[in-house]
Amino acid sequence: MNAILKHAFKGWELENPDRPLIIAGPCSAESEEQILDTARQLKAMNIQVFRAGIWKPRTRPNSFEGVGSIGLEWLKLVQKEVGMKVSTEVANVKHVYEALRYGVDIIWIGARTSANPFAMQEIADALKGVDIPVFVKNPVNPDVDLWMGAIERIQGAGITRVGAIHRGFSTFDKTRYRNAPQWQLPIELRRKMPDIPMICDPSHIGGRRDILQEISQKALDLNYDGLIIETHCNPDKAWSDAKQQITPNDLSKLLGKLVLRNVNTDNPVFLHTLEDLRQQIDKFDDELLTIIEERMKVAEKIGEYKKINNITILQPDRWQEILNKVLEKGKNRDLSDDFLIGLFKAIHQESINKQTRIMND
Ligand code: PEP
Ligand code: MN
Repeated sequence: MNAILKHAFKGWELENPDRPLIIAGPCSAESEEQILDTARQLKAMNIQVFRAGIWKPRTRPNSFEGVGSIGLEWLKLVQKEVGMKVSTEVANVKHVYEALRYGVDIIWIGARTSANPFAMQEIADALKGVDIPVFVKNPVNPDVDLWMGAIERIQGAGITRVGAIHRGFSTFDKTRYRNAPQWQLPIELRRKMPDIPMICDPSHIGGRRDILQEISQKALDLNYDGLIIETHCNPDKAWSDAKQQITPNDLSKLLGKLVLRNVNTDNPVFLHTLEDLRQQIDKFDDELLTIIEERMKVAEKIGEYKKINNITILQPDRWQEILNKVLEKGKNRDLSDDFLIGLFKAIHQESINKQTRIMND
C-alpha cells in the first residue's frame, strides 16, 4: 500500500498491505443472512473492508430505498463475527449520526450528494470532531471543481483521512458504460489534490459484469489506490444493481487476473513529474489543433479565391515547393523526412478536400 493510503488508514492493522485496497460487498444490505453470507466469503478471500448501502438514493421513487438502520445491526455483526471493517453511504445528517452511533468504520458520500454543496456542508458540519475515514464519490456531473469542493468541505470539518471514489459520470447519450469513466477527470483531481487516495468503482462505471475486469485493470494501470466492487452472494437476485454485482468467487477470479504493473508508484516525485510533462504534451496538442484549424481557414479562403478566378485546386509546383521548404527546415529541428512527408501530406489532403467542397458548392 502506498504512503498516501497508509496515512488514510493509519492505525489500522491491514493485512497484505502491498495490494491495492479492495472494498467489496453488496450494493444494498437486504437481510442479515445475505450480509453475513457475502461477508464470510469475502473474508475467506482476505478482503478486509466490507461495503453495503443502508439508505439507497434511487433515481425514481417506488424502487427499493434501503433497509434503513436495521442494516447497521448486520454491519455490526460483520465487524464482530466476521472481523471486517465496514463502510456505508451517508447522504444526510441523520445518516451520519446513525452510522456513527453504530460504529461504522468508513463512510462514503454518494455521487448525487457530492453534487450538492448544501448537503455536503451539512454532512461536513455533522462530522466535526469525528475521526473517521470519508470517501467522496465524484459528483454525477463531470465537474472536477465540484468534486474538489465536496472534498474540501469534509477536510474543512477537520477530517484528515479523506479519499476519492471515481464512479463515472452521467451522460445523456447511451454508451457502453452505465456512467462514462472520463478518466481525465480523476486524473485532474489527483493532479490538484495529490494526497487524496483514489479508489475506482468499476461496478457503477460499468453497470454490467462483463467489463468490470477491464475497468479495474485500467484503474490499476493509472495507479489508483484501490477498488470498490459490488459483490453479492446471489447477484441475480439482488434488490438493486443486480446486473453489475458479482459473486465473491467471481471477484476472486477478477482480482486474480489483475496485473499489478510495476509503476514506481511509491515515488510521488516521479508521478508528479510525469503528470506535469503529460500536461505539457496536452497543451501542445491543443495548440497544434488550433494552428491546424487556422491553417485550414486560410486554405478555404484560397479555395474561394480560386473558384472566383476559375483556377484548379491542385497546383503541383506549389505542393512541391511546400514540401521542399518543410524538409529543409525540418533538418535543423531533428524531424525525420518520413515524418514530415506523412504529416504534411495529411494536412495537404485535408486542405484539398476543403477546397474541393468549396469549388463544388
Ligand atoms: C452505491 O455505491 O451503491 C451507489 C449508490 O453509488 P453512486 O453514488 O456512485 O451512484
Ligand atoms: Mn449500487
